[in-house]
Amino acid sequence: KAKLDGKSTVFAYDPGEEVQITERNQQLREIATAISEDQFVLFYQPKVTLSTGHIFGFEALIRWQHPKRGLLSPDKFIDQLYDTELEVSLGQWVIRQALKQLAAWQQDGHNYQLSINLTAYHLSTADFFDWLKYQIQHYHGLDTSRFQIEILESNRLSDLSLISNVVEFCKSEFGITTALDDFGTGYSSLTHIRVLPVDVVKVDQTFVRRMLSEPEDCKIVEGVIALAQSFNIQVIAEGVESIAHGEVLLAMGCNQAQGYALAKPLPIDQLMKFLSSYQPFRQWCSQSGLLKNHKQAR
Ligand code: C2E
Ligand code: MG
Ligand code: MG
Ligand code: MG
Repeated sequence: KAKLDGKSTVFAYDPGEEVQITERNQQLREIATAISEDQFVLFYQPKVTLSTGHIFGFEALIRWQHPKRGLLSPDKFIDQLYDTELEVSLGQWVIRQALKQLAAWQQDGHNYQLSINLTAYHLSTADFFDWLKYQIQHYHGLDTSRFQIEILESNRLSDLSLISNVVEFCKSEFGITTALDDFGTGYSSLTHIRVLPVDVVKVDQTFVRRMLSEPEDCKIVEGVIALAQSFNIQVIAEGVESIAHGEVLLAMGCNQAQGYALAKPLPIDQLMKFLSSYQPFRQWCSQSGLLKNHKQAR
């Protein structure tokens, strides 16, 4: 059973703070129940190769189907979890769910990549790799090279060399790839791109979304792309909200994207419907003139 009060901390007495702590514990208890009662669900957001319009994979994003409050996005509950045991419990639920979905796709002959979000804290827990290995062994013949871990920074940024080892084990044993999420914001630092053997850098959506209207954001996006290239690391832009974003990114040398311009995160049945009617060259490239360029290039 998950512990609800997180790592123990000594608080100076403050009645207001005590109320907050009690509230948080209540929320954590509710989340623990939600995990055991299977109230969470994964949505999937497509990732596209800009130059071809081909959808090569998805990011799994968690939602809470709350019995009273309806469908909740992660910003309504995820921060509460950080640095508690529940963060690991929820991460484990996500991994199990994602592996199941990846196996189902592969059974149907699809070669999609599927990425999940895990915190650096979870990655650095002692039995992370063994636990993951055990889960993977449930699936015979699963192509785990199509599985990707997006590393989220938590403020408890743990031992980089430990995380670096985990990333390496995942790669050497299972071909699992890793991405640095939200690159350029918060606790994500230049040191990470230098020290961690990651495959992909995700340009944070706040920069990408504003890049067409704010020259400063545009410069940051350009800089991150150049940085990734110089480290021989793939780069993907999130928050691509218009065709124009995609065009500019492509011109800057970033060939992968996800964002509302292509699709929002979708529940699995809607995703499959979307995919069955998706026509790369009509829905993405042709509007932007990329189709023309694509044809000319061939
Ligand atoms: P993230 O990993 O950076 O995920 C991208 C977020 O940007 C998602 O928000 C997605 O819906 C949103 N997004 C994608 N394209 C666009 C766009 O074009 N415009 C705008 N405005 N937004 C876009 P979401 O699903 O609300 O997730 C928020 C964050 O919650 C994630 O950011 C991630 O940090 C965290 N999260 C999501 N799922 C999980 C999970 O399973 N485990 C953990 N630990 N964290 C998760
Ligand atoms: Mg992510
Ligand atoms: Mg991100
Ligand atoms: Mg984010």
